[in-house]
Amino acid sequence: MSSNNPPVEQVKLALEYVDSCNLPTTWANFRMHAFVEPATGKEHIALTLGDVADGKPVLARIHSECLTGDALFSLRCDCGPQLEMALKKIADEGRGALLYLRQEGRGIGLLNKVRAYHLQDDGADTVEANQRLGFAADLRNYSLVEPMLQHLGIHSLRLMTNNPRKLSAMEGLKVTVAEHVPLIIERNPYNDRYLNTKVSKLGHMLSPEL
Ligand SMILES: [Zn+2]
Repeated sequence: MSSNNPPVEQVKLALEYVDSCNLPTTWANFRMHAFVEPATGKEHIALTLGDVADGKPVLARIHSECLTGDALFSLRCDCGPQLEMALKKIADEGRGALLYLRQEGRGIGLLNKVRAYHLQDDGADTVEANQRLGFAADLRNYSLVEPMLQHLGIHSLRLMTNNPRKLSAMEGLKVTVAEHVPLIIERNPYNDRYLNTKVSKLGHMLSPEL
């Protein structure tokens, strides 16, 4: 954009919109919107499909980055399959949004996630591992959701999640959730204990036998 100094009120914004482009995928041709947090330089994206600014509730996923699950096919968690299922569901409806927030490893970062996985290799569960490293069980912050939705013209969500904390975080942020859409993922021998811990210690809404 312009090389002039931005006005003072822009500097204070928590999130700045940068640009948008097309993103063709296996399932649909999405629009990809890029944002940056001026305070930290962290980059975030949103994918949208169809007219999301028409005032009707939008099928949406608020997904926090998980490099191992999203990009490296890890079976240790359910992030990759959740991401894929969310994009497929949006494609099936021909309308929706995916906010991709760069807060890796429930907010502890990639390197600490490797440390936490090491502790889990030695027997800790996902919550114990984070706590042993000195972190809370879940450090994710959803404060960017509201400015992102506002930029996209989205007023109300049909939110795809199994996480009641995410639903209550949206309430706290005054983001309207018109409907809660579960995202049930198949279990495997590697994510089974992780998913059980999510249910027992983090309150996720997953049926234990699934
Ligand atoms: Zn993951």
